Amino acid sequence: MTQPILQVNDLKKHFPLKGGFFGGTTGYVYAVDGVSFDIARGETLSLVGESGCGKSTVGKALLRLFPLTGGQVILDGQRIDDMPAGTLRPLRRRMGVVFQDPFSSLNPRMRVRDILAEPIRNFSLARDASELEQRVAGLMDKVRLPRDAVNRWPHEFSGGQRQRICIARALAADPDLIICDEAVSALDVSVKAQIVNLLQDLQRELGLALLFISHDLAIVEHMTHRVAVMYLGKIVEVAPKRSLFAAPKHPYTEALLSAVPVPEPGAARERIILKGDVPSPINPPKGCRFHTRCPYAFDRCRVEEPPLRPVADALGAGHIAACHLHDRPAAENPLAGAKGAALLAVA
Ligand code: SF4
Repeated sequence: MTQPILQVNDLKKHFPLKGGFFGGTTGYVYAVDGVSFDIARGETLSLVGESGCGKSTVGKALLRLFPLTGGQVILDGQRIDDMPAGTLRPLRRRMGVVFQDPFSSLNPRMRVRDILAEPIRNFSLARDASELEQRVAGLMDKVRLPRDAVNRWPHEFSGGQRQRICIARALAADPDLIICDEAVSALDVSVKAQIVNLLQDLQRELGLALLFISHDLAIVEHMTHRVAVMYLGKIVEVAPKRSLFAAPKHPYTEALLSAVPVPEPGAARERIILKGDVPSPINPPKGCRFHTRCPYAFDRCRVEEPPLRPVADALGAGHIAACHLHDRPAAENPLAGAKGAALLAVA
C-alpha cells in the first residue's frame, strides 16, 4: 500500500476558557478531541457534520494556524505537528487552502496578478519576471479565467470568479493537498456545481488530494471518494462514499442523510428529526457523545464511549463506525443492513 499523503493521529485542539477574578483558565472547549484519518494521493476525503462539530478546527489545525493540544500530523511521511513555527515554510507550500468566503479572502488592494504572484515569489518558484508571468497565466488557465483578467481588482469579479481566483492562489505553490473549508457554501447553486466540477477536474489533472470540509451532503455525495462524519469533536464514522450513503452505520450519519434531498422523483426518504441541540463542547456528555440525541440509545451508551472500529458492510471494506449497536445481534441492530431511514420523529 502506498503511503498516504496525510495521516492524522489522535488530533486534539482544546481552547482554554478564560475568566474568573484573576482571568485564569476556567475550563476548555473540546473542539477537536482525538481525531484520526488519512488521505491518499489524488483522493478526496470529505469531513462532514453540523455547524460547531469541530470540522473547520481540524482544517485550521492541519494548517498550523494555532498550536495543537495533542496528536500527530504526518505529511508525506514527515511529522509536521511538532515543527517549530519558524520552520513551517515548506509545509505551507505543500498544503493549499480555500476558505468559504471568497469576498474576504482576497486582498481588495491587490490586483489578481499580484495575488497569484505572491506565493510564487515567496517560495522562489520563478527564475525571472517572464517565468513569473507565465506561471500566473497558467494558473488563470487552470481555473478557466481569461488571462487578461489578471489586471483587474477582486471587486470586479462575481462570487464564483473570486472563488476561482482563491483556487488559483491555492495552486500557485504546486501543493500536494488542498483543504477546502466550506469552499462552495457561500455560492449560488449553479455556481457551486461549476466550482465542484473545477475542483474535480484539477484533482484529475494534477493528482491533488482534497480535504473537503462541508456540511452539505448533497455536494459531498457528488464529488468525494470517502466521507468522515464528525460529531462534537470526534469522528463517528468513516466509509467509502457508496457505503456511507447506501448503508450508514452510525445513527448520526443516518439522521444527516435523511435530510438530503433525493434526486429521483417519487423516491421518498423519511426524515429523521433529532431531538435537542448539539451539546456544548465545553462539557460533552459521558459515554457516547451522541446518546442525548440518539433514537437508539440504551444503558451502555450513557456510560461507555464506543471506539471507532471496523463494521460489517456488504458493499465493501473500509467502513468504520463508533456505535455499540454493532455489538448486538443483527436482529437488534437497526443499522445492520442497507436500509432506508426509518421515520424517527422524536420531538
Ligand atoms: Fe446511539 Fe448508543 Fe450508538 Fe451512541 S453508541 S450512536 S447512543 S446507539
